[in-house]
Amino acid sequence: MVTNMDIHKIQIADTVIPEKKKRRITQEERIRRKKRRRKAKLIRMATMGMTFVLSLALILGVVALADFLYKKVIRKESAKTVLSDGFVTADGKKSGKWHDFYAIDLARPELDVELLTVNDFSRPGIELPEVKNIFIHYTANPGTTALQNRSYFESLGETHERSASAHFIIGCEGEIVQCIPTKEIAYAVMKRNYDSLSIECCYVREDGKFTDETYRSLIELTAWLLHKYELAPEDVLRHYDEGGKICPKYYVENEDAWEQFIEDLSEYMENVAGM
Ligand SMILES: [Zn+2]
Repeated sequence: MVTNMDIHKIQIADTVIPEKKKRRITQEERIRRKKRRRKAKLIRMATMGMTFVLSLALILGVVALADFLYKKVIRKESAKTVLSDGFVTADGKKSGKWHDFYAIDLARPELDVELLTVNDFSRPGIELPEVKNIFIHYTANPGTTALQNRSYFESLGETHERSASAHFIIGCEGEIVQCIPTKEIAYAVMKRNYDSLSIECCYVREDGKFTDETYRSLIELTAWLLHKYELAPEDVLRHYDEGGKICPKYYVENEDAWEQFIEDLSEYMENVAGM
């Protein structure tokens, strides 16, 4: 039989048991929530990391694209603009400054064509594929004439003493002798025989300075070659500039004399072109 007392006990038991259950659920829930929060935090951090990496990639992409567009479009455009104004060319070879000089009809200076006999030591008869520079030399033999130096080159075909030659020789009276056609190579500048032309200059003074006549003819001949190959005064080099040989002596030992030569050459070109 169930007494009032028993009912009370049951009631107590009924109320106590759910409370215990509730506490246990709450604790489990707390652990679950904690786990959920940790998970959410990890996801947030991962998302932030991903966002950072993607943003960085996007910025780098934009920078690369801008650079590409600048190089391909804007700079090309500006180069074209400058080109039409006649100051720069696409390959940088022709200095647009000399556009008017190339446009004139420039006569070849008077010269004596005395081609060497084809031989392995001074005129190999090999085609010159291109002309990038004009090299200036001195004969290293004071007081000799252009024809004497030409004869020396010719004799090398017999003596086989050494390989040497140049396309042109300018004498002390300003006379110009051509030894090798400009379409063929000469043996003048070790590593540059296949893309350059060479001019030898005679001299009297021990220091190697050219006479005024030689100097004038050298300017005329060099200018004519620059015109023919559409090169600029800066493309005229001393033998010294390619390999360090002291040639042409005076213009290696006196840097300002060489600079003056390039200046005089430029001035001559400007004058004949009416620039
Ligand atoms: Zn030389």
